[in-house]
Amino acid sequence: AADLGRDFGRVVHNSRAYLRQRAAVDSLRELEAHKSRLIATVAHELKNPLSAFRWNIESLPYAESEEEYAEVLTALTRNRDRTEKIVADLATLSKVSDPDHLPTTEPVQVAHVLSEVHSQLSAEAPPNDSHELVFDMPPDDVYVTMAPGDLDRVLINLVTNAIKYSPEGGQVTVSTRTSPAWFELRVTDQGLGISPDDQDRLFTEFFRSTNPTALKQPGTGLGLTIVSRIVGRSGGLISVDSAPGSGSTFRVTLPIV
Ligand code: ADP
Repeated sequence: AADLGRDFGRVVHNSRAYLRQRAAVDSLRELEAHKSRLIATVAHELKNPLSAFRWNIESLPYAESEEEYAEVLTALTRNRDRTEKIVADLATLSKVSDPDHLPTTEPVQVAHVLSEVHSQLSAEAPPNDSHELVFDMPPDDVYVTMAPGDLDRVLINLVTNAIKYSPEGGQVTVSTRTSPAWFELRVTDQGLGISPDDQDRLFTEFFRSTNPTALKQPGTGLGLTIVSRIVGRSGGLISVDSAPGSGSTFRVTLPIV
């Protein structure tokens, strides 16, 4: 009976080890599959503006008037900007996603970052001057622990989206709440809103809405992925509350120092 018990114990132990190994292999395989899909998407996303860029350059010598020349130049600049933005966003995404290179964090004064970002975005040329930016400042003694520049990036991406995806003359509000352990930041707009289906995929790389009005805005579909990675590595949470036609509120919660 003792032998039988020992054998049974060994079988249970081996099958547990086998299941653990299977789970590790499955998750590695999933990771590899995700990596190849991402590389294919990057190639595809870069191909479009680069083909357009090439087409613009080749058609420049054939422009028949000054207006036509200017039009091709404008398209060329737009495609160059788009390519540069994709490459810059990809570099930021890979930096904020690398678990082996976690940045040094430091206490960051939230009110200081909010006022810097407010001045930066208010001073910019259109489309940012077309909206009223209302920032509600937290008390001066609210600090969060983050890598330098991370809170700025989160705010800039969320407020820029709120501006891009809401009509001119709209109000974009940044409100804050503080508890002894948490700091909450909400970015609210009166814009297009986001369908429940789109909300499920918002934080996925290269996701862009299926809404045709939203697609008219330039974008890479990487901004919210960057935001969610930064929030995640800072120990925070991000969520969205939105309905088509009723605006959106993005809520970020971060632990307080
Ligand atoms: P991008 O703006 O470059 O397309 P993001 O990752 O920042 O990429 O956003 C992904 C998509 O989510 C956008 O294409 C847009 O459709 C939708 N979205 C983001 N923010 C808002 C918002 N405030 N209101 C409506 N839709 C939004």
